[in-house]
Amino acid sequence: MNDKTLVFLADKKNVLLAMKKKGFGSGKWNGYGGKVEKGETILKAAIRELKEESGIEAKEKELEFVGKISFVFLEKPEWNQDVHIFLIKEIRKAIETEEMKPKIFKKNNLPFKQMWDGDKHWIPIILEKKEIIAKLEFVGKGVFKKIIFEKPFKKTIIKQENISERQKIALERINILFELARKQKEESLKKKYLKLAKKIGERTNVSIPKELKKIFCKKCFSMKIKKIEKKPFIITKCEECGFEKKYSLK
Ligand SMILES: [Zn+2]
Repeated sequence: MNDKTLVFLADKKNVLLAMKKKGFGSGKWNGYGGKVEKGETILKAAIRELKEESGIEAKEKELEFVGKISFVFLEKPEWNQDVHIFLIKEIRKAIETEEMKPKIFKKNNLPFKQMWDGDKHWIPIILEKKEIIAKLEFVGKGVFKKIIFEKPFKKTIIKQENISERQKIALERINILFELARKQKEESLKKKYLKLAKKIGERTNVSIPKELKKIFCKKCFSMKIKKIEKKPFIITKCEECGFEKKYSLK
């Protein structure tokens, strides 16, 4: 695959990003990086690209490896790339170059709308210095479809596509009802909230989120659920009526 590098400079609160002014990914904020040339190590390429695009000179030992992400464009396989990601644990002064315009952002306020679709799922993790190994899938010219993590935790995040305004509100109400049910001590009221949540879901064609499905009994709406892990499955058993359900752990 096509090897690329990506370097972020970040301290405790801030991160230096740069907007690409032309070419692939133009108009988007990102870290610094580019292609690994023939005969070049990934680390050397990361340092060279950083220097070319920002004027910042870094030493090999200053670059901490924080992850590798395979970007997979399902409809544009020629764009596929393996991105090797590094972190420098301080912010340095970057110059504006022909290709890149630098700007410092607060880590908790990144411009995700002007970044690659899907960045919000992994950039915050590496900025916390957690190592990531993942695959990101896109449709079209870069519309996020899903991210599959190997590290730091096995998890898949899938975009909820084509969800209407009405369904968004329904999903919110379902979440609120579950929260109410959790806090409620009286058993009959708990069940009432859950029944209502289920009804809203059915009426608006919204499925109850997977995590919530596992905390109540489908049959009697009790929240007294025992979880038994039998890899690769998890079995939930209702302590009230005995109803069992099997879920895949993935
Ligand atoms: Zn039950």
